[in-house]
Amino acid sequence: MTGRGFLRYVGLADAYGMGWEFVSDFAQAGPNDLSRFCRNPRFPTYPPGTYSDDTQMSLANARVLLARGCAPLDFATAWVETFLADPRLGYSRWMRETLVACRSGTDFLRRFAGNMGTGSGACMRAGVVGLMPDLERVFGVAALQASITHDSLVGILAAQVVAGAVHHAHWGLGLMTDLEHFLVHRLGHWREHVDWTDPRQGLHVVARALQSVVAHTSLASLLRHCVDHGEGQDTDTIAAIAMAIAVRATEYRDDLPAVLWRDFEPGGQGEELRRMDHQLLDAFPGSAT
Ligand SMILES: [Mg+2]
Repeated sequence: MTGRGFLRYVGLADAYGMGWEFVSDFAQAGPNDLSRFCRNPRFPTYPPGTYSDDTQMSLANARVLLARGCAPLDFATAWVETFLADPRLGYSRWMRETLVACRSGTDFLRRFAGNMGTGSGACMRAGVVGLMPDLERVFGVAALQASITHDSLVGILAAQVVAGAVHHAHWGLGLMTDLEHFLVHRLGHWREHVDWTDPRQGLHVVARALQSVVAHTSLASLLRHCVDHGEGQDTDTIAAIAMAIAVRATEYRDDLPAVLWRDFEPGGQGEELRRMDHQLLDAFPGSAT
C-alpha cells in the first residue's frame, strides 16, 4: 500500500472534530491540544473517538468505487446498507429519518427525488472519489453522487472541489500552493458561490477546510487549526475534508499523536477502515511517494 492511508485518517479527523461540532461554548468540550478525543456536550452518550456520518458515507462511497459501480442506485444502496449495519451520529434529521425508514436503495432514491440541498452532506463523502485516476471521471462521479441528495449548483460544486483537491494531491499534480489555481482552472470561480453567512452551506465548509489545508504542512497542526478556526461550526466535517486532502499531499508530514490512534474507534471499527485503505490504494495508487 502507498503510505499513510486515507479513510482511517479521515475517520480520525472526523472523530476528533466531532468533539466540537456546533458547540458554541468551545471550552465546554475540552482542550483542543490533541491530547485526547473530547466528548461533545450535545451528544453526551456518544463515545469519544468514534467517527460520524462523514466517514461512514465516505466508506460507503469507497465500496461503490471498488465494486466498479457508479449508478445512483449503487450509491443509494451502499449508503442505506452501510448505515443500517452500524448507525452513526451526525446525519441531518431528514437524512437520518430517511436512512432509518428505508429498506432499499430504490426506496432511498424515491424519497430523495428532487432534493436540492446545499449543505455539506454531499461534499463530505466526495473526497474518496478524487483517488480515481481520470480527472474528468472524478468530476463526473463526484457530481453524480452529489446530485442524488444535493441536486443544486452549490451542492454539486462543493463535492467537485473536494474530489478535485484530493485528486490534485493524490496524483501529484502540484503543490498545495498551486491547488487554488488548479481548482479555478478546472471548475471556475467556485468561491463566488460561498455563502459566508451560512456555516452549514457545503461550499462554506469546503472553503474553511481549504483555508486550513493551505496554511499548514503538518497533519497535527492542521487538525488543531480546523477545530480552532471552525469554532462553533461544523468542525468534524471541516476536519474530515481537510484531512482527506492533506493526507495524500507529499508536503504534509504525519505527526498525529499515537494517543489518538490508540483511542480511535473504541468499538473496533478502525480495522475495517485500514482494510479498505489497502484496497483503495491498491486500486488507485496515485503518484506513489
Ligand atoms: Mg459528522
